[in-house]
Amino acid sequence: MAFVAVPWRSSAQGSCTRHVTFKPLARADQSQAFVERPLRQIMSLKDDLVIANRILYAQGVVDAFGHVSVRDETDPGTYWIARNMAPASVTADDLIRYDYDGAPSDGDERRPYLERYIHGSVFRARSDVGAVVHSHAQSTIPFGIVPEARLRPVWHMSSFIGGDVPIFEIRDVEGDASDLLVRSSATGDALAHSLGQSTAVLMRGHGATVVGRNVHEAVFRAVYLALNARVQVEASRLGALMSLTAAEAIAATATIAGQIDRAWDLWAAEAAATSSS
Ligand code: MN
Repeated sequence: MAFVAVPWRSSAQGSCTRHVTFKPLARADQSQAFVERPLRQIMSLKDDLVIANRILYAQGVVDAFGHVSVRDETDPGTYWIARNMAPASVTADDLIRYDYDGAPSDGDERRPYLERYIHGSVFRARSDVGAVVHSHAQSTIPFGIVPEARLRPVWHMSSFIGGDVPIFEIRDVEGDASDLLVRSSATGDALAHSLGQSTAVLMRGHGATVVGRNVHEAVFRAVYLALNARVQVEASRLGALMSLTAAEAIAATATIAGQIDRAWDLWAAEAAATSSS
């Protein structure tokens, strides 16, 4: 295929960044064990975040644009996201840690994503959220630009949507001459307000932002939000739609919550095969 990605290296295989260094652990030294535990968590976090970038590209949720972030539980108030680049090419060395106002926490001044404020504002507003995906997934766009349309769960795989997906109208904060991008914490906070307690928010004329308790869940939801949009449009050509009841959505979400890693493992393997071919 025409796409050629940079092979990603697992930090567990030795490509630690300068932020994470493994040292030999002396068994009797409990204080050392205490120090290294967060480091292991960060290495795992970075590996998962690299895989998430590859999956989102392979599944068609992102293209050259879009991004995914993970909250750093070892350092509250910060999150990890790639530098300004296409998700399919992200490696562990491309990940940068930011505070919720979009400033690099480790002095890493490499070119950032313009819209990183989306992530910080959502993490600040939602303590239950551990990962955020922002995309321009084409199938979701119609539901943000047709005032009468509402994106809602129409099959069990996307039951996490719950009910009507809220829509963020950037004109409410930036007027009618913006470039539609979330370029500040203030605009990010307005987006987070529109998201409310939902699992996703549409951004009129722009894309969508999806959240999860962890990166596996956020990726799963980003994939199935886009698929739900496609199914909903196709079904609407046939006649009036039936969507899930609120109770069905809750029950199906509880069932599928235990199955998310099955999808993650498959998608990760597919993305790895694509990247190395
Ligand atoms: Mn965008």
